[in-house]
Amino acid sequence: MVTPIADPAADTTVREIRVNPIVPSESVLVATARGMRPKKTEEPAPRTARRHVETCPFCTGNEAMTPPVIAAYPAETNWEIRIVENLYPVLGDDRSTPNLSFGLQQTIDGYGRHEVIIDNPRHDAALHEMSEAHLALLFGVYRNRMEQLYRSDARLRYVLVFKNFGPAAGASIAHTHSQVIAMPVVPDNVQAEVINSRAFYRRNHRCIFCSLIDEALTFEATIYDRDSGEIRRKISVGQCVVERGRKFIAIKPFASRYEWEVHILPLQHQSDFLRLPQDDLADLARVLRRTMARLDAVLGGAQYNYFLHSLPHDVECSDCEASYHWHIEICPRTSIPTGFELGSGLFVNTVAPEAAAERLRAAKIS
Ligand SMILES: [Zn+2]
Ligand SMILES: [Zn+2]
Ligand SMILES: [Zn+2]
Repeated sequence: MVTPIADPAADTTVREIRVNPIVPSESVLVATARGMRPKKTEEPAPRTARRHVETCPFCTGNEAMTPPVIAAYPAETNWEIRIVENLYPVLGDDRSTPNLSFGLQQTIDGYGRHEVIIDNPRHDAALHEMSEAHLALLFGVYRNRMEQLYRSDARLRYVLVFKNFGPAAGASIAHTHSQVIAMPVVPDNVQAEVINSRAFYRRNHRCIFCSLIDEALTFEATIYDRDSGEIRRKISVGQCVVERGRKFIAIKPFASRYEWEVHILPLQHQSDFLRLPQDDLADLARVLRRTMARLDAVLGGAQYNYFLHSLPHDVECSDCEASYHWHIEICPRTSIPTGFELGSGLFVNTVAPEAAAERLRAAKIS
């Protein structure tokens, strides 16, 4: 007899990670309740939205419309940032009937936490319009919440903080917000970064992210032909720097998947975002705000996803502290993946990253 993946009589919604038996890294989180979330965004473009929207659950005065508050900063009565449960979580509490696996139909229980961080009381606030003090508070909130979630349950192996802004980036509510998902598995892309950077470290005794920062700060290099001695190519790797602060740097990656993708990293080596010193939050806020302002100026209202990659807490690896380097990846959404990209897994970028960095650097921002 074939055992069903989920017993439909017990619960009609499915919430589990289904492991792709051919390519395990292409596993899928099946979360059917998610299909019930609002599909329509209130406004076609987030920049044309209003300051306050009567029907928006994330606007001030409408606090009763959200699921129960988890935390509010500085306080629920005058909140600037508010954390609530997600009404349509992709991961959630333990289920009364555990998921079953059969043969090649392997599943991992969709246990976890899914929360929403309402970034700002103002409905139409874009990130670059928020004050640097507010952004420093926001990243401090990310850090606190990640720490609490890691501590709350040993089964939570990774806490991912991310933001979808604009309908093209998958935001179903126009009001600015971020999300936190605490997962029972380490996402494969993070795992791949950890493994590959560790391999680089073991060969070179250096952090690959630190090496990339050093290269980005190398302004010119000339490659000579080995036989003739003539100049073969002049490269100016420094052209990848978008913004530089005292503690942080924003870089256009050499192999960017998205046309306007930018990564922000601490200049000093640091593997775990949770150990970011309080004093460094201000510089992170400044570099992030200026980078977002540049993207917004060039793209005329950027719709984007950003997410935070930090060393997973479950790794038992003596080198990982030295080999991994936390970072933020910002991916503006200016095109939809095509059949070639889906079929080959190879992203097509139509703007040369160095040209994109040049335009971002030249953008007039305040
Ligand atoms: Zn709102
Ligand atoms: Zn490093
Ligand atoms: Zn990453």
